[in-house]
Amino acid sequence: MPSAPVAVVLRGIAGRMGREVVRALAEDADLHLTSGVERGGHPALGTCIAGVPVTADLRGCLGAGAVVVDFTVPEATREHARIAAESGAPFVSGTTGLSEEGLAALREAARRIPLLHAPNMSLGVALLSRLLREATRALPDYDVEILEMHHRHKVDAPSGTALRWAELIAAARTGLRCVHGRAGHTGERPRDEIGMHALRGGDVVGEHEVIFAGPGERVILAHRAESRAAFAGGVLAAVHFVATHAPGFYGMEDVLT
Ligand code: NAD
Repeated sequence: MPSAPVAVVLRGIAGRMGREVVRALAEDADLHLTSGVERGGHPALGTCIAGVPVTADLRGCLGAGAVVVDFTVPEATREHARIAAESGAPFVSGTTGLSEEGLAALREAARRIPLLHAPNMSLGVALLSRLLREATRALPDYDVEILEMHHRHKVDAPSGTALRWAELIAAARTGLRCVHGRAGHTGERPRDEIGMHALRGGDVVGEHEVIFAGPGERVILAHRAESRAAFAGGVLAAVHFVATHAPGFYGMEDVLT
């Protein structure tokens, strides 16, 4: 007998990513959008989006087995992960810009529920994260620079993906520190830097590049999100993942087979 589709509660349903996830969910017969959550005072409250009611009350939406998907703002993510943990609802969050305390709150919630948080939901970026570790170890003497570019509306910089990549490069090669941009008489480039450069403008969905520069060559690992569909596809994979896994704190690399 076929199993019932997994219920999905979408936080930030009226936002840019929320709308993209709504489109993607409509293509997946094994997932079923049951409600949308928006911030208090949002004009979409009390209306329907894609046939489901939009409410400000997350707790009221959490039926048995429902998975919460969150694309909102860091302060709200932290609070709603706590509510999901109280209700035993698996949680997928792509919200970026969380502080150390915010991430610690997600880890705390993940003791009770499967919780996947990823600053970039694309499966391509998850794959690149794996390759980056390998490249960092294989090219220990090469200079590392990270470039990212996003649309002019993005409110945090550098991007969550760029920060995550800097972390994993620093974990694979000890003694590196991040330097954000360069200006003035900087002197020669020290060997212990990861150069980080955040570009903003237009409607660029998301571009990331890591350059390993060595004698006579550059190795460039790059990802270009052509549309938000790249993130939404990963969100669906993440929902299927948390719906079938034990409590724990997961990332998109865990979703890759
Ligand atoms: P957006 O501003 O278009 O949408 C955010 C939505 O969240 C809005 O509709 C807003 O009203 C709603 N919201 C705010 N507070 C809320 C609350 N307390 N409860 C419920 N809803 C609330 O932003 P966006 O472009 O959709 O991005 C949202 C987040 O996702 C950002 O942090 C962004 O950086 C991140 N993002 C992540 C990925 C990824 O792959 N992980 C991709 C794109 C964007």
